[in-house]
Amino acid sequence: MPAGFSAAEEARWVADMVGRLSRQDDRRRRPRRSDAALMRRAVELSHLHLQDRAVPSSVRWVTNQNRRWGSCTPLDGSIRLSTRLRTMPAYVVDYVLVHELAHLIVSGHGDRFWAWVARYPLTERARGYLDGVQAAAGLVLDPDWDAG
Ligand SMILES: [Zn+2]
Repeated sequence: MPAGFSAAEEARWVADMVGRLSRQDDRRRRPRRSDAALMRRAVELSHLHLQDRAVPSSVRWVTNQNRRWGSCTPLDGSIRLSTRLRTMPAYVVDYVLVHELAHLIVSGHGDRFWAWVARYPLTERARGYLDGVQAAAGLVLDPDWDAG
């Protein structure tokens, strides 16, 4: 972030950067992002980072989720991701998947939960990206969603 920016300049700068990043991403990889692809990716991420301990029963995109990026129902193992994520870089979608998958192992946002999430190496980068999007778009998210 360039020094000496006012809050308004800062918001514009973040919006510009986010726009540029997602356009770059669009060029690189066109979404092969169906519900089936999302489910496959979730299983893969559970294998890579969560010792296969998170076993989702379904993973799908939803349009009705405006106050959180993702959600899960540990009781039936279902995971839902906001379609807002669809145009974001793959590592950000991966982070939200890992976040929701980790809730299938540990509920709430305590130390044990974050220890699982932190096994995904781009966690901090992805959280920073989402913070930038949230600030630039003036989104009001459920404070519970990502309580660190
Ligand atoms: Zn959470």
